[in-house]
Amino acid sequence: MKLGIVGLPNVGKSTLFNSLTKAGAESANYPFCTIDPNVGVVTVPDERLTKLGEMYHSKKVTPAVIEFVDIAGLVKGASKGEGLGNQFLANIREVDAIVHVVRCFEDTNVVHVDGSVDPARDIETINLELIFSDVEILERRIAKVAKQARMDKTLAKELKLLEVLKAHLEEGNMAKTFELSEDEDEIEWYRSYNLLTAKPVIYAANVSEDDLADDGAANPHVKNVRELAEKENSEVFVICAQIEQEMAELEDDEKAMFLEELGLKESGLEKLIRASYKLLGLISFLTSGEDETRAWTIKNGTKAPQAAGKIHTDFERGFIRAEVVAYQDLMACGSMVAAKEKGLVRLEGKEYVVKDGDIIVFRFNV
Ligand code: GDP
Repeated sequence: MKLGIVGLPNVGKSTLFNSLTKAGAESANYPFCTIDPNVGVVTVPDERLTKLGEMYHSKKVTPAVIEFVDIAGLVKGASKGEGLGNQFLANIREVDAIVHVVRCFEDTNVVHVDGSVDPARDIETINLELIFSDVEILERRIAKVAKQARMDKTLAKELKLLEVLKAHLEEGNMAKTFELSEDEDEIEWYRSYNLLTAKPVIYAANVSEDDLADDGAANPHVKNVRELAEKENSEVFVICAQIEQEMAELEDDEKAMFLEELGLKESGLEKLIRASYKLLGLISFLTSGEDETRAWTIKNGTKAPQAAGKIHTDFERGFIRAEVVAYQDLMACGSMVAAKEKGLVRLEGKEYVVKDGDIIVFRFNV
């Protein structure tokens, strides 16, 4: 699961990407070797793991990770091939969700490609490129389906969907605001187009340090971004990429002091990573023991056997049941033994839908 960081040049994408990967790289002991410098593996902050690790005296604590891709170079005209535009658009097509960085900070030393700070205009510029690119995809599909529809009458339905969807985009709308019917064929077709403007988006409003304490409330640019995002059901996170980059260099205790000075509980980066994880529709279940306490990533809605399969395919194949306790329950009881006495450790079967923060022991046949 990957998120793409997009935005116009000079809005702070690389700064954000660097702080993300730096902050993530420290704690990650993952066997990924990042060959592509534009891809970064980032650990998902989760204080439950620390607490659980302490309770079990685990030798190792392994957090969940997500990948971020720095997609630089999107400019006006990208969909027409300007500045390698099509290549960047193709990169966006491969990600599952988008972090769209918008510049809300004033700094005369940093040139804006369009001469002034105006995030609403910037968002429109980028979104229009995404829309143009999607229209092109639809047009290609229309040409293909129209030809086949002459032989196969059942394809008339798809052709109609394509036309309506295209009209929606041509009015300047994102695919995600298109009202899809509940028809299963239509849902399947729609998915198969893999439209850029259908991907979930978080707007990262890059502000100056002064705007952090009130979460950007006094910054009119942030207000504009919030209004715009609300219309398309996207979330907005206020962040100062420059501060994050500075913080990524610090040790944990120094970082805590730094945050306190800024009047913040946690860094914007941590909030953004967690929100990104959620945006991808991901949750974590946890396993804990002396050797390791670990977060395992699953799609929200995954059932117990498939969750077990994340650990080992044998666990899924031989699945008998799952012993489950909710993180909050375990912490409230203080130990697994106490949680069992209180009847808070449940035995769940094949149909159980795993929840975020479930601590699980799987029973299986080998
Ligand atoms: P990108 O082109 O979107 O990747 O932008 P960069 O991350 O390279 O940033 C462009 C310039 O803006 C650099 O000189 C950064 O130091 C500066 N910059 C990035 N974030 C901030 C910020 O939050 N405040 C200020 N004042 N400058 C920033």
